[in-house]
Amino acid sequence: MLGLMQSQPLLISSLIEFAERHHGSGEIVSRRVEGDIHRYTYRDLAARARRLANALDSEGLQPSDRVASLAWNGYRHMEMYFGVSGSGRVMHTINPRLHPDQIAWIINHAEDQVLCFDLTFLPLVQAVHAKCPTVKKWVALCDADKLPEGSGIPGLSSYEDWIGAQSSTYVWPQFDENTASSMCYTSGTTGHPKAALYSHRSTTLHAYAAALPDVMCLSARDSVLPVVPMFHVNAWGIPYSAALTGCKVVFPGPALDGKSVYELIEAEGVTYAAGVPTVWQMLLGHVKPNGLRFSSLKRTVIGGSACPPAMITAFQEEFGVEVLHAWGMTEMSPLGTLCTLKNHQLQWPAPEQMKVLQKQGRALYGVDMKIVDGDGNELPWDGKTYGDLLVRGPWILDTYYKGESPLVQDAQGRGWFPTGDVATIDADGFMQITDRSKDVIKSGGEWISSIDIENIAMAHPAIAMAACIGMPHPKWDERPIVAVARKPGAEVTREELLAFYEGKTAKWQIPDDVVFVDAIPLGATGKMLKTRLREQLKDYRLPGL
Ligand code: ADP
Repeated sequence: MLGLMQSQPLLISSLIEFAERHHGSGEIVSRRVEGDIHRYTYRDLAARARRLANALDSEGLQPSDRVASLAWNGYRHMEMYFGVSGSGRVMHTINPRLHPDQIAWIINHAEDQVLCFDLTFLPLVQAVHAKCPTVKKWVALCDADKLPEGSGIPGLSSYEDWIGAQSSTYVWPQFDENTASSMCYTSGTTGHPKAALYSHRSTTLHAYAAALPDVMCLSARDSVLPVVPMFHVNAWGIPYSAALTGCKVVFPGPALDGKSVYELIEAEGVTYAAGVPTVWQMLLGHVKPNGLRFSSLKRTVIGGSACPPAMITAFQEEFGVEVLHAWGMTEMSPLGTLCTLKNHQLQWPAPEQMKVLQKQGRALYGVDMKIVDGDGNELPWDGKTYGDLLVRGPWILDTYYKGESPLVQDAQGRGWFPTGDVATIDADGFMQITDRSKDVIKSGGEWISSIDIENIAMAHPAIAMAACIGMPHPKWDERPIVAVARKPGAEVTREELLAFYEGKTAKWQIPDDVVFVDAIPLGATGKMLKTRLREQLKDYRLPGL
């Protein structure tokens, strides 16, 4: 017997329709590429998303055709999120930090038909457009009078001209909620990038879950600053959850330095901000030495790579800002776990609570997870045993776009996505990543967590960033070394740093050496690029070998 409730499909257009009707005057504030501040409302955004849908119709785009963006976080980009997907096309956000050859490869692989870009990326578009025959329309996300002359890009239009010529009346089409809505390519540090193809259903369910109190706790009372880019995994789904909750949204545009982000937080009464650790390091690097305070900021979600405990302590103890450590992946839309305490932990002493808060957190409903050994046997949740982390759920990838399904089957025939992360899970369900499986250091048959070694170095006042990698060793297979970049003007010697490890980890886990570098190489999503670091240190030999 079927239920007798309305079977309205979960479509992205319903999010913006809801925001327009119920939060029409809610504010969306953006720092533009031009440098000025732009403000309007969900009502304006909805009307312009409909104009964009009409513009796509006028280009003759069919359902599921791909429309790409190369853009910072801003209101026009958010209009694309709703206008492109809402009209049944696929919103393809491209990471502009990738190599131009990789970008051209991605555009061709996705067969993008329209590409909209911020003027910052004009040189990039000039470099790749001739190699992208599927793109029949290039649009600069700017006012008509800012459109560059003689750009060499055939038929280039300004976004404002393009959508301005269209009506704001449009009826969003209704279709199967499993229809593709958007796509994002992984950074592809090895081999070609692979794409996750999200659906309206996966995106809408993820938007609900992301707003829950134990997840991002978003509400109409919040002023939300997504520093995490909209060009990578949909800014952790915040644009969708924002429309669902009607929160005020504040977009930083291209200005991601500590000073600009701090000024925006203060000027717009930001209560909640989200980003990767490197961005918050820049913010703290501005706020601390200048003796500044946060007057409105209450919570910050930090994820994408391990959040150093020293950063959690700085935000919480020095600034009274709650840190929520989060873990996810492109293939997971991206949210998997978030770290908030449970009721019975509220009475625990602060140091015990801090140990929990440093973990990547608990699964949210919609994500099931387990750790397994090399033979696929499930391992215990004791907080000590580590294994390969597998996940399943309605917003987790089944098959790569034009690619293969990476899922592994369990005894019941259910498919699990192998995350490539190694983790422990404790009795309360808190997951802690020890490493990417390819970064784990195997020393004398035991595993050393590179994240643990990095976190200790990062707690040293002179260290800006640390990366731990394994080096070949004839007796132990591998031994850890730590590459560190010092804070400007700060001093610390090899011996001082190695002494700093004493008592903080088992003796055999202390790195064999410290290598000082000017900067740790970062990848396109702001994560440490250990492959590049290994290349840089290919002639390095461990002391005594
Ligand atoms: P995203 O696209 O969200 O940056 P990617 O798909 O590029 O994610 O990379 C996902 C990987 O990033 C995870 O498998 C994990 O190794 C790492 N990661 C993400 N968040 C964390 C975290 N909080 N702590 C440690 N590693 C993390």
